[in-house]
Amino acid sequence: MKLGIVGLPNVGKSTLFNAITQAGAESANYPFCTIEPNVGVVAVPDDRLDKLAEIYTSKKIVPTAIEFYDIAGLVKGASRGEGLGNKFLSHIREVEAIVHVVRCFENDNVVHVDGGVGPLRDIETISLELIFSDMEMLERRIQKSQKAAKTDKAIAAEVEVMKKVIAVLEDGKSARVLDLSDDEKEIVKSFNLLSSKPIIYVANVSEDDLMDDGNTNPHVGTVREFASTEDAEVVVVSAQIEEEISQLDPEEKKEFLNDLGVEKSGLDKLIQASYKLLGLMSFLTAGPMESRAWTIKVGTAAPQAAGKIHSDIERGFIRAEVIAFDDLMAHGGSMTSAKEKGLVRVEGKEYIMKDGDVVNFRFNV
Ligand code: GDP
Repeated sequence: MKLGIVGLPNVGKSTLFNAITQAGAESANYPFCTIEPNVGVVAVPDDRLDKLAEIYTSKKIVPTAIEFYDIAGLVKGASRGEGLGNKFLSHIREVEAIVHVVRCFENDNVVHVDGGVGPLRDIETISLELIFSDMEMLERRIQKSQKAAKTDKAIAAEVEVMKKVIAVLEDGKSARVLDLSDDEKEIVKSFNLLSSKPIIYVANVSEDDLMDDGNTNPHVGTVREFASTEDAEVVVVSAQIEEEISQLDPEEKKEFLNDLGVEKSGLDKLIQASYKLLGLMSFLTAGPMESRAWTIKVGTAAPQAAGKIHSDIERGFIRAEVIAFDDLMAHGGSMTSAKEKGLVRVEGKEYIMKDGDVVNFRFNV
């Protein structure tokens, strides 16, 4: 689960990324995560784990995590190989979703690469590089496929979709705005286009704009308007404040947020939006050793969910004993009393997991 942070120079990417690495999850818990200087691992906040840990007197809480990849160095002309252009674009290709940081704060001491603050122009500058790169790739691919398309129906269908995508790109729009059938979507997925990757826009504001979620900052309004054309979410953040927050312990953080008049930190909002964007959800396990959240895609069946914990559990899967977190809480956290009420379900191989399922897997070794 990797998201790439992009944006023009001086918009606050590194500041946000620093906040991410400082808030960073304990990496020992996440052997699957990449440990590289430009990758930050953050825990996905989940209050349910604290409650479970209390009930089960767990020694440890292990939240699930996502990775943010700092993709710095985009300049105009990247798609033509300027600056670190090609390297930059290949890094974007590796991530599952894009976090596009847009500067919405005014500060005369921080130079803007293109003059003044102009979110729409900034978004377009970055988007166009991705669009150009996609266009070039698709055009090459069409050329190569043209002959085979005459005799191969599948390839002909591919070429048709490519033409449809190109028409949108030529209009200066990202491929993600396309309205496609399910079959077409599958085909587009196979192209791994940059401009079709799911995206979140981060409006980076100054401290004063936090309290009303950027509602009185016209730049934020511009970002929201643009994002709505792509059905994308906007998260309002002050990277500078996030950097400060990331150095606080949980109690201090609460107080600080209180003083700012906000409920959640921008980073927590971003993490939650990212999780949703990727179509992810969590199931939970709890015991005296640890209370833990596990990430799965929405629609995952019980055995594959078990496989997240260990491949042996998936292989030897017998059944899952499941209770919804809310049902457990409604019974004061008592498994026994919930069981008496028949709220602990026994589920088989076909069961599709739900967010917040507290699970015990039974399996053959
Ligand atoms: P990058 O080039 O996109 O990585 O930008 P940086 O994170 O290095 O930020 C550029 C400058 O903007 C730095 O001097 C930051 O301190 C400043 N900056 C970043 N975020 C904010 C913010 O939310 N508010 C204000 N006022 N300044 C910020």
